[in-house]
Amino acid sequence: MDATLLQPEPVTKAEPTRFAPAIAPQGTKVNQRLFSDRTYRIGSENAFRIGPQIRELELAGHKVIKCNLGEPDFPLAKHIADEIKRQIDLDLTHYCDPQGILPLREAVARMVSRTRKIEISPDRVVVFPGGKPPIGLTQQTYCNPGDEVIYPSPGFPIYESFTGYIGAKPVPLHLREEDGFSFSGRDLAPLITERTRVIILNFPSNPTGGVASREQLEDIAEVIRHKAPAQVRIYSDEIYEDILFDGHCHHSIASVPGMAERTIVAGGVSKSFAWTGGRVGWAVFPTNEEAAVFKNLNINYFSCIPAYNQMGAKVALESPRSAVEIARMCNAFRERRDMMVAGLNSIPGITCRKPGGAFYLFPNIAGMCEKLGAIEAHGKMVDGTRSSPATLVQMFLLWRHQVATMDRRSFGSIGSEGEHYLRLSIATAIDDLDIGLERIRAAASDIDGFQKFIQEGQHLC
Ligand code: PMP
Repeated sequence: MDATLLQPEPVTKAEPTRFAPAIAPQGTKVNQRLFSDRTYRIGSENAFRIGPQIRELELAGHKVIKCNLGEPDFPLAKHIADEIKRQIDLDLTHYCDPQGILPLREAVARMVSRTRKIEISPDRVVVFPGGKPPIGLTQQTYCNPGDEVIYPSPGFPIYESFTGYIGAKPVPLHLREEDGFSFSGRDLAPLITERTRVIILNFPSNPTGGVASREQLEDIAEVIRHKAPAQVRIYSDEIYEDILFDGHCHHSIASVPGMAERTIVAGGVSKSFAWTGGRVGWAVFPTNEEAAVFKNLNINYFSCIPAYNQMGAKVALESPRSAVEIARMCNAFRERRDMMVAGLNSIPGITCRKPGGAFYLFPNIAGMCEKLGAIEAHGKMVDGTRSSPATLVQMFLLWRHQVATMDRRSFGSIGSEGEHYLRLSIATAIDDLDIGLERIRAAASDIDGFQKFIQEGQHLC
């Protein structure tokens, strides 16, 4: 393979930052800066970044209710854990195939072929350390600077974060509450241009819990078929495919005729098997050639993923015991969802839709922002660009009422102004969620406390 094909093009000039990066250049002259321009343009995932703040509160003796992280609070199932230990005892502890060991790639190919009703060979499967890495690697692989990436907003923050890093143009597809945080082909059509290279879909969705119907995906596919050339890639992030409620089934755009040839189907073990620490994810590419390019990126970045974990992932995908564990987890999430949605809707100033999948709630807190004075307080901030009314409420909830949530801006900040939402993960024990709910209820009418918090001026973004 021509090595030049694999070189990312250099970003030669600094572009203005379109969203809050993880580090700010803070006025230093270009030739005095420590980092490359692109380093100042990458975003982050705030759910991880508030970890030290939570620890600070815990060290001060507070019990923080953690609704920030998307991590199922269930132990790894015994049949999977046993397999990992067995493989370690067999000394499967050395370098292995950078594309992913064949038994796992075969298991992924069989699972995706069966569930999406398409023919997948293991050569098209690449294994990554989690579901996250193929997001950035996909943008890096298919986009030159100035090319466009369409992604849902609100959406998983890494979609937008990487556009800055690789110099692509971020094109958020805004999801509106009144449309159930979903979209149709008609919403997507005007965003597709001749510079579009990647279109990201995520159903069930983080952070809204939205799911897609087969008809909706057919409608979206129809628009892509007509407006986007064959080499434009759909990145279908299906990592929550097993977390569904109320009889919803998972549908993939790859199942729509003509779409498998354009679609990268991504998934992993983190959510379905409550195994975020396993760091096993995968992507199924439209061609062997594309899979080979990603295999080479794996070689360059990390060589391979621990083979004993990959064998655990194979068992997770193939053992009939997994379905029982998934059903148990989904039942718990559904019970928590119902309790929390009812509770949130009973708080003046908050309304919350019932999500069909994933384990997040995305309540509208516009009324709460208004009542507490968060909109006014944000309007008076000298530099409010790294904050928002919902950010102020998020910080108030954390520092004054000890509930960790995430603000709307954390899920794609471009064009999020005026949208007042929080994301609450319900991957937390129901008793803790109950405490969290009562704390949110108390915070929603704690006008004096909020005003004091703002006057003190700490932790406002
Ligand atoms: N995609 C989405 C939509 C996610 O929500 C997450 C995790 N929160 C990931 C990918 C990454 O998963 P992993 O932990 O396996 O890297």
